[in-house]
Amino acid sequence: MSRFLSLEAQRLAPYTPGEQPRDQQYIKLNTNESPFPPSPKVLDALSRAEAEKLCLYSDPACGALNAAIAGRYGLSEENVISGNGSDEILAFAFRAFCGEGRGAAFADITYGFYEAQAALFGLEARRVPLREDFSLNVEDYLDFPGTVVLANPNAPTGMTVPTAAIRRLLERDPGRVVIVDEAYVDFGGESCVPLVREYGNLLVTQTMSKSRSLAGGRIGFALGAPELIEDLNRVKYSFNPYNVNRLSLLAGAAAMEDEDYFRTCCRAVRDNRAWTAAELEARGFAVLPSSANFLFAKSDRLPGGELYRSLKERGILVRWFDKDRIRDFVRITIGSREQMEALMEQIDRLSAGT
Ligand SMILES: *Cc1c(COP(=O)(O)O)cnc(C)c1O
Repeated sequence: MSRFLSLEAQRLAPYTPGEQPRDQQYIKLNTNESPFPPSPKVLDALSRAEAEKLCLYSDPACGALNAAIAGRYGLSEENVISGNGSDEILAFAFRAFCGEGRGAAFADITYGFYEAQAALFGLEARRVPLREDFSLNVEDYLDFPGTVVLANPNAPTGMTVPTAAIRRLLERDPGRVVIVDEAYVDFGGESCVPLVREYGNLLVTQTMSKSRSLAGGRIGFALGAPELIEDLNRVKYSFNPYNVNRLSLLAGAAAMEDEDYFRTCCRAVRDNRAWTAAELEARGFAVLPSSANFLFAKSDRLPGGELYRSLKERGILVRWFDKDRIRDFVRITIGSREQMEALMEQIDRLSAGT
């Protein structure tokens, strides 16, 4: 820390991304990326001619990308804002809908970025414990007066909240925004997007990082009533008007338009998830019911930290959180079938002590 660091920056709680080691080739099952390359249509969109246009600024309105997203979800462009990953969209939302006198509530076990952004904006954060079985019960949020942020499916558990419960939350207090982070919804959750037309206080965020194989493209978006989107644009134009770069605008629109490829990838992940869960359970693991592209699992023999370290020595990265309530678990991203078979082989060798 330098002697120049502001008091505000000293109070930050930076997010720790999953490891991206460069020292050796790992089977990477630690950051919920897709094991599949982007759609071939994405590759076609990224031509040399388009790269030459990088000397020009990107479209600040993200017009073509927002139109593709709106078309896919049966909404209009006024319902959409795109960002440099959904992390940026979440930041816009925290800045727009929370502040003095209006804090944010989120689960004690959820995406770590909510905590980091609440600290960045100096917000009052209420951490609401998940129930004993890691389920999220909206009863616990009904009377919270500020902004509610829910990941659905949740991370790192993979568990879902029914949309009927989210409706209750939206209706209980129309004067409060509910942000539903649907980063993983394409792998099996029930989406709140159809509710966007009905509720003026619902903001749904999604990302192309997981189900559309574009983590490195950094493309996220939010869907909501036009007034909410206008508020988010107010923040965006105060921060970074050209927030999505030219190549990502093209990649994102192409990915959104390739429905067949998208469905094929999501189906493969769901099949591999079912296979992996069964294999883990057969080896004595407790596995939480996941609707995401990862499993949250606990070995009956090895503590989470030890399992994480042993797998890393064997060339497989999984995510371990050194945190109360979940220290015994590891989060395993669903990769290709070959990757999951390699994981099982290493778990078997570990058990056999070879
Ligand atoms: C991965 C993830 C995001 C954001 O990803 P981006 O790459 O910034 O779009 C948001 N929320 C949750 C719960 C995530 O796991």
